[in-house]
This record gives sequence, structure tokens and C-alpha cells, in this order.
Amino acid sequence: MKYALVTGGSRGIGAQICKELSENGYFVYVNYNSSYEKANQLAAEIGGKAVGFDVSDTENAKNKINEILIECKHLDLLVNNAGVSEIELFNFTSQENADKILNINLKGTLNCSRAVVSSMVNNKSGCIINISSMWGQCGASCEVDYSASKAGVIGFTKALAKELAPSGIRVNCVSPGFITTEMNKKFTKDELEDIRDEIPLGIFGTPADIANAVIFLASEKASFITGQTLAVNGGMII
Ligand code: NAP
Repeated sequence: MKYALVTGGSRGIGAQICKELSENGYFVYVNYNSSYEKANQLAAEIGGKAVGFDVSDTENAKNKINEILIECKHLDLLVNNAGVSEIELFNFTSQENADKILNINLKGTLNCSRAVVSSMVNNKSGCIINISSMWGQCGASCEVDYSASKAGVIGFTKALAKELAPSGIRVNCVSPGFITTEMNKKFTKDELEDIRDEIPLGIFGTPADIANAVIFLASEKASFITGQTLAVNGGMII
């Protein structure tokens, strides 16, 4: 049995990743923070297990991941997907929001990765896939803290990939463009039309588009790929 942990697996992109991993033979630990019911429902549906912790809470994340490792003995895959975004001017962003974005998106990714790496190194195998964003590649006005956190995820991916490659562990990144999830519910109909006009393929992405990229990077077909950022954005950022 292959074991995977998906952070922020309760909703949106993370939930779809959990479903597709399960279809591809993984037992999936579905992490959630606030969406207890959704995570447990999904875990029951796919025969996995819901595990609640806030990825930005270093000690608790480490303890919960240790419990997972004791239970399943090894994790084949960690998908660092949990993330939050805010749209506001940089100089009007409260310190509380700025800390939240950095702590969940970047520190949370480092926390969960640090908690699994020793076990993966001992097993001389494993795979970590981080979910960044096109804004981490090119920067977004009014999402400066978010862009910085996601650029950090790309830098982290490259560095950790170099460090872990000799241990047979691959670390890659998926960089989504505009994907239809609750994260984008804040946009009006007109704003959505404007955004769609900027996407060369003329369509929004779906959680399945991102899950497919994760499945590929986790598979043997990607066994010579590490440290890379796979952009899945309909051509919006090239
Ligand atoms: P979403 O629908 O808002 O879902 C966010 C997920 O993150 C939820 O499962 C949520 O869990 C979890 N989460 C938030 N804070 C957490 C915390 N402190 N600890 C653990 N889990 C936490 O967002 P999404 O669109 O699926 O986004 C998923 C990832 O893709 C994010 O990293 C996001 O930045 C990235 N992304 C999304 C888009 C897009 O257009 N949607 C584009 C580029 C990148 P609970 O509900 O249980 O709290």
C-alpha cells in the first residue's frame, strides 16, 4: 500500500488530489484545519483518514504527522496544498493577515516537509509535491504577501530537491493558474470575465487539472524530474 498525506485536503484542489490519489492506489490522510465534516466525509468516501491540524502550528503539525508515521510506517507522498489568500493593497494589509499568509503558505509547507523528511531519508524513497501559484512565479498586484509566500515555496522546492536527491527523494512544485474553487468566490461576474480574457486557452482551470499534474509528478513516469515547477495555467504565465 502507498501512503499519502495531503494538507488542506478537505476542500477545493486538495480534495480533488485526495480523490485522484485514492483512485491511483494510495491510502490518503486527508488533512483539514476547520472543515472537519468535509474532511471526514471525503475520507470515508475514499477509504482514507481525516487528520486535523493547522499546518502553521509547528509543534502540533509535527506531532500529528508523527502519529501518522507511527500508524502507516512510512509516507510515500506529501502534498503541501494548504493555503490562504487575501486581496488587498500591500500597505493596507494588517500584520495579522500578513503573518497568516506567510505562516500557512510557506511556513506550513516547511513544517510538514520537515516532519516527514527523516522518515523518507531512512527509507531512501519518497516524494514531496508543493502547490505554489502563478503569482509566485510572476507576482500579483494586491496579492503581494501571497505572491511572496508562493515564490518562497518555489525556492524551497528547488533547495530541498537538491538536498534530498542523493537520498532518492524527489521534490517538485505545481503552480496553478486560475482554478475554480472557493478561493476565487470573491470575484464578481465582470471580474471573472476580465480574468478569463487574459487566459490564452480561454477557460478557467479545474481542481482536476491540478490533481492530474500531481498524479504525474508522484508517478514513476516522473522519476527523473525533481526541483521543477510545473505550471498549469492555460497559458496565462509562460
Ligand atoms: P480553498 O478552496 O480555499 O481550500 C483551501 C484549503 O486549505 C482548505 O482545505 C483548507 O482547510 C486548507 N487550509 C487553510 N488553512 C489551513 C491551515 N492553517 N492548516 C491546514 N489546512 C488549511 O483553496 P484552493 O483553491 O483549493 O487552493 C489550494 C492551494 O492551491 C492553495 O495553496 C492555493 O494557494 C493554491 N492555488 C489556488 C489557486 C486557485 O485559483 N484556486 C491558484 C493558485 C494556487 P479547511 O477548510 O479545513 O480549513
